[in-house]
Amino acid sequence: MTIGLIDVDGHRFPNLALMKLSAWHKSQGDVVSWYTGIEHYDRVYMAKVFSFTPDYGYCINAGQVVKGGTGYDITTVLPEEVDRMPPDYNLYHLSNDLAYGFLTRGCPNKCKWCIVPTKEGNISPYMDIEEVSGGRKKVILMDNNILASDYGLQQLEKIISLGIRVDFNQGLDARLVTDDIARMLAKVKWIKRIRFGCDTPKQIAEVERATALIDKYGYGGEYFLYCILMEFEESFHRVNYWRDKSHRFVLQGQPYRDLNNPHQVLPQWQKDMANWVNRKELYMSCEFKDFTPRKRFRCEKYFSEYK
Ligand code: SF4
Repeated sequence: MTIGLIDVDGHRFPNLALMKLSAWHKSQGDVVSWYTGIEHYDRVYMAKVFSFTPDYGYCINAGQVVKGGTGYDITTVLPEEVDRMPPDYNLYHLSNDLAYGFLTRGCPNKCKWCIVPTKEGNISPYMDIEEVSGGRKKVILMDNNILASDYGLQQLEKIISLGIRVDFNQGLDARLVTDDIARMLAKVKWIKRIRFGCDTPKQIAEVERATALIDKYGYGGEYFLYCILMEFEESFHRVNYWRDKSHRFVLQGQPYRDLNNPHQVLPQWQKDMANWVNRKELYMSCEFKDFTPRKRFRCEKYFSEYK
């Protein structure tokens, strides 16, 4: 059987589902490759994570087309035997010491901008770190709220004892960082930094509290803060807050996307604010009001517009 794969989002990030499908089909003796648009394939898988990326706009030359991923449909899941396959990392030419996966799925919270609770439900155990790592020394973990689960905390202990370097790339929930958890987080070997969500005004204090606790136990690295941008004044206050704190806080501004409206046009201020926040040198050296993203336009104008 010939299998073609399409990463509809354009290879922004390695697509775990495609890597598992590739591994499973190869284990069945099938011939797997990226879809070229030239040859005929027995089956083509199209994976799309984001609702805002454009769909693949061409006719597919295949006997069967299977579409999946949050960008198409939040209810599709991989068959169990495929889901348990070690991913085919060669598909994205990933380094030999790096693995991707999840230890838990779901989240107990229901943040209004987030699809996870609807898609995956409450948090539950999913895989073991040794199964995910497959002997690799670094693991990117895409768990949505690892600290909200006792199983997740046990897995963190295991990560520490195995000395695996990790990145929880979806961020941790600062509200859940107790003294014990902070001690544990300070012991983890991080790939680069610890990430938290800082999506509401209240989370500023929570992030400050959590990071001070983790520092107390000896962590001296970077903190990466995800900041959703929803309303102008509140978002500005929240992202601007960290400018004077420490160069150890690195922010990523994320314009709010209405998951029920894939054709939503993002407000220009959200794009400009994200552009400012996400370029660390610019963010640290220039106030948002002085940022000039386009000729003859200073962001100062937004302050009178959104009063
Ligand atoms: S805590 Fe994170 S994963 Fe959970 S609902 Fe909120 S944004 Fe989504």
